[in-house]
Amino acid sequence: MAGAETTAVVAGGGAVGLTTALALAKKGLKVILVEARREQANAAQHKKDHPTIRAWALAQSSWNFLYKLGLGTELQAVSSPIWDMRIVEAHPLRGVDSRKLHVSHRDAVDRARATAADENGQATNGARPLGCVVEEHALLDLLSRAVALEANIRCERGLRVVDFESDARGIEVMTRASNEEPAADNAGQASSPSSSSSSASSSSSFERCFRAQVLLACDGRHSAVRTRAGISCRRRDYGQRALVCALSHEREHGGVAVEWFMPSGTFASLPLLGRRSGIVWCDSPSRIERLVSMEASDFERHVSVRFGSWLGALSLSGARTSYPVSLSVARRYVSDRVALLGDSAHGIHPLAGQGLNLGWRDVAALTEVLSEGLSLGEDLGSEALLSRYERRRLGDVRRLVMLTDGLQRLFGNDSGLLRTARLSGMGLLDRVPAFKRRMAMAAAGA
Ligand SMILES: Cc1cc2nc3c(=O)[nH]c(=O)nc-3n(C[C@H](O)[C@H](O)[C@H](O)COP(=O)(O)OP(=O)(O)OC[C@H]3O[C@@H](n4cnc5c(N)ncnc54)[C@H](O)[C@@H]3O)c2cc1C
Repeated sequence: MAGAETTAVVAGGGAVGLTTALALAKKGLKVILVEARREQANAAQHKKDHPTIRAWALAQSSWNFLYKLGLGTELQAVSSPIWDMRIVEAHPLRGVDSRKLHVSHRDAVDRARATAADENGQATNGARPLGCVVEEHALLDLLSRAVALEANIRCERGLRVVDFESDARGIEVMTRASNEEPAADNAGQASSPSSSSSSASSSSSFERCFRAQVLLACDGRHSAVRTRAGISCRRRDYGQRALVCALSHEREHGGVAVEWFMPSGTFASLPLLGRRSGIVWCDSPSRIERLVSMEASDFERHVSVRFGSWLGALSLSGARTSYPVSLSVARRYVSDRVALLGDSAHGIHPLAGQGLNLGWRDVAALTEVLSEGLSLGEDLGSEALLSRYERRRLGDVRRLVMLTDGLQRLFGNDSGLLRTARLSGMGLLDRVPAFKRRMAMAAAGA
């Protein structure tokens, strides 16, 4: 079957797919980006009267990554810095402020001074934020505009990658017109992707085919490419959903992000531009369902109980949406001429706000490996090259999976002994500068 020729096909145009295409194109690779949605991932949602405002916390390392792609100025315009992070162990019956760990950008200042010279416009006399918060629609919008300007990228929207065949010379990628929104936890929907790949193999008529050296799967948690490549996942269902929304408030947030840990789940507030904060509230599916469907005024009352009074009066800004919360980690990141990136390789609990940051570290590593291969004239889909990418990513992903999974287990348990250990542990750690510096570095993605 003949198809359009390119160097790499990127399946999926979410935040990871768009940056993968951009980073590779800037290294001189020809890329075809195939995205199932006809419009930019959340454009249709954002045209509604009351769209859901979804906030992403980006580590400093992610900021640096986008800056190197030439997007620093645009990102600065649409993001809000995180100067301080408060972690609160809370109990619904014993008040919201049981014990706090407070990590500030000042805790990371030594290292910041050391690296300020090679960083971007954000660095000022060692005073650098721990990270920043950006709204999903603004980030996808700026990435989509950058992709549209890149001559090395051909963007194919409204097509779904449904099958592929690899041989010694390359990979043939088959697509179909996409009639519905794709399944993706990140789209706040839950359905099975395997139906799309199995129906693909039963039909001979494909919409378009592309021939490349390598296929890069950025098609999210329910990756059809991963399923078709025969790569299985280690999974854990946390028995939770995550409610996402934004709130307007009376007082300034001062760039403070707060995470409350409770036995039933976590509640995080992320500072947005203006007097607004993004909320990620994880709890049992039944409680989240109730919180999503209750009247706005009742919801605001529930949120105020969690928040306390530090931001003054609160009001809901836009709609509420919920997402399933689970862990899924691919057992391999590569197979014949295929590499997995972002949520297709690893979907983690949102409690640490690190999923996208982790995905962008995949993109940085893959770009490095493929551009090394390009300069040496190697086959970019070869097993040797793709295994190099996998080896570079295994440790980082394993560490973050252990951290998020471990935190979820530690704080999601209300045993008296564990609770006492947590409270005294947090109190002690709050007085150890070296630990807090390490926490500040981790938040910054260093
Ligand atoms: C509640 C919540 C809060 C979070 N907060 C944070 C945070 O603060 N910070 C952070 O770093 N991370 C956070 N994350 C994680 C982050 O959202 C994900 O890691 C990130 O969105 C993954 O991006 P992706 O591009 O890999 O996948 P997705 O965003 O799922 O994108 C996949 C894309 O592929 C397309 N697609 C699917 N199938 C196909 C196909 N067969 N062919 C072509 N296209 C296809 C889809 O339309 C979609 O556009 C959060 C996650 C949740 C659930």
